[in-house]
Amino acid sequence: MIVGILGGGQLGRMLALAGIPMGLRFRFLDPDPCAPCAQVAEQIVAEYDDPGALDRLADGATVVTYEFENVPAQVAQRLEAHARVHPPALALATLQDRLLEKQLFTECGIAVPDFVPVATREELGAAVTQLGIGDGLVIKSRRMGYDGKGQAVIRPGSTGILPVPDMAKMAVLLDAAWSDVSSHAENGGLIVERFVAFTRELSLVGIRARDGDTRFYPLVENHHSRGVLRSTIAPAPDLSPGLQDGAENHARAIMRHLNYVGVLAIEFFESADAAGKPVLLGNEMAPRVHNTGHWTIEGAATSQFENHLRAILGWPLGDTTPRRMCAMVNILGRLPRPEHILAIPGAHLHLYGKSERPARKLGHVTMVADAHDQLQGLIERAQRALPPDAA
Ligand code: AMP
Repeated sequence: MIVGILGGGQLGRMLALAGIPMGLRFRFLDPDPCAPCAQVAEQIVAEYDDPGALDRLADGATVVTYEFENVPAQVAQRLEAHARVHPPALALATLQDRLLEKQLFTECGIAVPDFVPVATREELGAAVTQLGIGDGLVIKSRRMGYDGKGQAVIRPGSTGILPVPDMAKMAVLLDAAWSDVSSHAENGGLIVERFVAFTRELSLVGIRARDGDTRFYPLVENHHSRGVLRSTIAPAPDLSPGLQDGAENHARAIMRHLNYVGVLAIEFFESADAAGKPVLLGNEMAPRVHNTGHWTIEGAATSQFENHLRAILGWPLGDTTPRRMCAMVNILGRLPRPEHILAIPGAHLHLYGKSERPARKLGHVTMVADAHDQLQGLIERAQRALPPDAA
């Protein structure tokens, strides 16, 4: 059986590494001749919208999936006419646009930070007036933004005299934010949303099979810096009762709405309501395996990668129960010495075969333990073992 995959990055490579033992073969489409998938499987080097390359990708493939959501949605739609494609092109089209994504959250009854869509610099000014500066605002491109790219944050401290902001200074800040973010927007427009003073960031990875069977991994706690995921703790410590069930119900509603098959990841902000009770706000979703699910390779009975393949092939889903507590630390920009990482008890090293470049995701370290307090020490040890800039 051949699985065709749009995108040949580390997520695709880890899908192949999970599927090869089950007898699967993989074929990737990625324009980068040095894509991480090339070391483990066949790669077609071509643009995502090259019709001949798409035909070759689908030719004889049992199923086509993606590991990168910024492929044009029309590509997935075109493939759907000739091949079985999971998740559906509708999921790709919806989740690659922050406005459609937020509207879907709302339709499914999931709270999101207040937001206003904007198409011009004038509308940006009006949106800022409408939302008010409050705790701050985040300006995001609707499309092509990831890892904090295509975003600008305006915090009250940056706008001059408070509580009345210095309007001239504000105009300068908005000009800069507009030119910065709209350069990522490719005419797709922007959204302005309220900065959320969240307690922490949580995410949920779930899988829906072709027959509708749905399973979830536990909510995990994520730590970002400058918009990029640095570490994940699984399961999230000290979860309030009801939060896991609430998140799963949210995900089920989204999956049903999209007639979804495969792994879906949802990122939430955990915040508190007026009574101090924890609540979840939807931030964003990914129609693919996710960085905050990498811990499942060593930490759960079945990894997110194997479960994605099981789902899209119509096979029974695997057990999602965590085997141990886990921490995952991303390796960014610079490669560590393997022996420094592997000297840490319970540590596993994953490198993606990429060359060093500032802030680039080059690999991750997973550490397993039996208690959360042990994990914190292990995370700090891993961060010390990474070269400066890599943690
Ligand atoms: P995103 O690409 O939307 O996931 O944003 C990247 C990171 O920026 C998030 O993981 C948060 O740490 C931060 N962020 C994004 N939106 C907001 C917001 N509305 N309020 C506070 N922080 C945010």
